[in-house]
Amino acid sequence: MRILIAGCQQEISSFNPVPCEYDFFEYMRGDEIQANHEGTDSQIGGAIAELRSSFGDDLELVFTFDAEGIAAGPLSHAAFERIAAEFLESLKPHAGKIDGVYFSMHGAMGTTELLDPEGYLLEEARKILGNDVPIVISMDLHGILTAKMLQNINGLASFHTYPHVDFGDTGQRAAKFLTRILKEGVKPVAARVRVPAIVRGNELITATGAFGAQIRHAKKLQENPSVLSAGFFICNPFTDVPELGSQAYVFTDNDQDLAEQGALKMANDFWPNRKIMQGQFVSLEKAVSMGASMAGPIAFTDAADAPSSGSSGDSNAIISEMMRTNYPHSILAPLADPDAAATAHKLGVGGTFRMGIGGTHDNQFVPLELNWSVISLADGTMKCETWKYEPTIGPTAVLRSGNLTVVVTTGTVMLVDRALFFKVGLDPKDFHSTIVKSPHCEPAFFDDWVEANFNVDAPGATSANLKTLGHTICDRPMYPLEEDTEFIPQVEIFSN
Ligand SMILES: [Zn+2]
Repeated sequence: MRILIAGCQQEISSFNPVPCEYDFFEYMRGDEIQANHEGTDSQIGGAIAELRSSFGDDLELVFTFDAEGIAAGPLSHAAFERIAAEFLESLKPHAGKIDGVYFSMHGAMGTTELLDPEGYLLEEARKILGNDVPIVISMDLHGILTAKMLQNINGLASFHTYPHVDFGDTGQRAAKFLTRILKEGVKPVAARVRVPAIVRGNELITATGAFGAQIRHAKKLQENPSVLSAGFFICNPFTDVPELGSQAYVFTDNDQDLAEQGALKMANDFWPNRKIMQGQFVSLEKAVSMGASMAGPIAFTDAADAPSSGSSGDSNAIISEMMRTNYPHSILAPLADPDAAATAHKLGVGGTFRMGIGGTHDNQFVPLELNWSVISLADGTMKCETWKYEPTIGPTAVLRSGNLTVVVTTGTVMLVDRALFFKVGLDPKDFHSTIVKSPHCEPAFFDDWVEANFNVDAPGATSANLKTLGHTICDRPMYPLEEDTEFIPQVEIFSN
């Protein structure tokens, strides 16, 4: 049994003004993929483990190409063409010589010209590999599953958790799907129901929020041996592409009715909750003034500038408001500012300088000009708290100005936990107020020990205040962009 494994994944915000380039991706070729993923909790790691346990000594894994991009602004089309060419060229030598394919994808890619890059990759892969080879993919539940993707795959598994903790499990489910095609000869038929709503906010937390009901239903469906896979995409609302929206899907073994019923049930149950599945905010001014009068500790969630959702990481909106109002407590904030980081590295620890920081990438933010002292310097990678992922931070510095401590990074860094702070020897527990540039973190990181976590309605490319973003491409009407959007359930069927 020869199974080909490859990947291409990224998530973008169409509203981030900085195009993403080729070097925003990490590339693995051939056996590097195995070396990096086997034994880890990644999607590819999970898939490898499942395939090994299913096929034992009868298995030969063929690793070709894996591109893993950090969340960012739209991918420059030239960069995508280069990545796509490498991805597709890597498949060609194996055409006609493999039994099955697993691709690890995200689903929320977008280039400056192409609005369904994953659909393109799958369509071209299908042309190269032929119609007889089963292709199964895994996706993030923030992905945008398109008709073109469904027309070119045989199976799919998507995350069942948000915040995401089931990376390996999802790869494992995808590999199990592929195994059932190869061993049992199941005939996948897929039903999907698109829901014209984009959503955000606490109700999407699968363990505690309303959206958990759809995921629990998907899992329940999967207990039926005739169901090959089920899930629900809430999409990345910042990826402004035609098929943006929420959607339910079910794959069964040649049972169209069962697939239809399952997808309809999830979509119909989701729709009435669209209103509570929106961000609940505190205005910037109010959050800062409330924080000033509280004992603390306090988290200020700046989801509008979350690099993990595709923002540029250089918003100083909250700290600028704090400085403007003479905030009386200690503050810890992360900020992507390559110029400030370079200056700090040039001056060294103990150096002082005056500079405006923030707004380097997104010019809606006015640089915050203060006198800074360089407290410490760092570089290299940081170790995420629970994700098995070590992002490169680039030259980084801890700057202090009065009660404000800012960790300035050269790169725009994923900030899903406290890893950046720990990397530079700081603990948010030692500060009154911490700026958190992630929409939701695992509770232990902040929520379990802070007095309050304000979801601040700050400006930015990944604001959960979805109406403010300026979508121009997605199908309309779309709730909440049009409050009176109606939902007329329609089932689409795919079988390849
Ligand atoms: Zn996601």
